This record gives sequence, structure tokens and C-alpha cells, in this order.
Amino acid sequence: MPKLKDAELIADKARESISDFCINECHAFCCRKGYIMVRLHQLNQMTTKEKREILEKEGNIKELFYSGKFQVDFTNSLGGCPALKDNKCTIHKNPERPEVCHEFPIFILGDKIKISKKCPANQNNKFYPFIKQFQELGYELI
Ligand code: SF4
Ligand code: SF4
Repeated sequence: MPKLKDAELIADKARESISDFCINECHAFCCRKGYIMVRLHQLNQMTTKEKREILEKEGNIKELFYSGKFQVDFTNSLGGCPALKDNKCTIHKNPERPEVCHEFPIFILGDKIKISKKCPANQNNKFYPFIKQFQELGYELI
């Protein structure tokens, strides 16, 4: 579907355009607050044995029964996601990185585009030129 491919390219460019802002101004808010749901192979990429032991001891990794998923809470003594270092994701290029990490803060949902309102880059209108491009393709911003 060419329209989707175009939208994915715009979304990738938009996410890339904020990388300096993410590191230097936002200080990786999305990797430090809240939680993430991941599968075992993703969890293994995100954490070392030592860090995982710390998180397990603190109760900040919970296995969700029968789902094959784990919830990792970012309010922990490591200061956020175990893969975060100096406000950068250490597994950024790893294909096993959780899908949501690749997508956040822009989600393509059918004919609609959702950009997280919690993301300071969005709050600071950093995506304005890209929103116009999505709209030109026929996407609705929700
Ligand atoms: S919350 Fe938004 S601006 Fe902050 S690090 Fe995440 S994507 Fe970047
Ligand atoms: S894996 Fe990387 S992008 Fe995902 S929450 Fe952790 S540090 Fe952030």
C-alpha cells in the first residue's frame, strides 16, 4: 500500500528529526517514566543479568501470566529503562528493540495519525511540518 509506505517514511523522518531534542532537552522522558510491555527476547536485549536482578528484586519486572509478556516499570533505582544510558537508547539499532520504542511518539492507525500528547517534542510543535505532510496524504490527526 504506497500510502502507508509514504506515511511510514514521513513518520521515520519526523522521529529522527527530534533526536537531539530527545537527548538534550527532553532527557528521554519516555524511557524514564511509566512502563513498557515486552516479550522475553526483547527483555533480554534491553537488560543485562545484573540489571535484571536489581529490577526483579525491586519488583519492577513482572511476568504477566499466560501472555508471554513482561511489564518493566521505569520508576526504579536504575532511573528508567535498563537500556538507557546518558539519555540514549543503547539498543536503538537492534531489530529486537520493542516495536513501541520504534513507533513512539507517532502511531499510524489506519487512516489516522496519533502523536502522543505526553511527548514534549509534540507539545513544542516539533512535528508541525510532518503533520502537514500526513494531511496531504489524506491522514487525519487524532
Ligand atoms: S518523550 Fe518525546 S521528546 Fe521526549 S524522548 Fe520521548 S520521543 Fe523524545
Ligand atoms: S529500549 Fe530504548 S527506546 Fe525503548 S524504552 Fe528502553 S531506552 Fe527507551
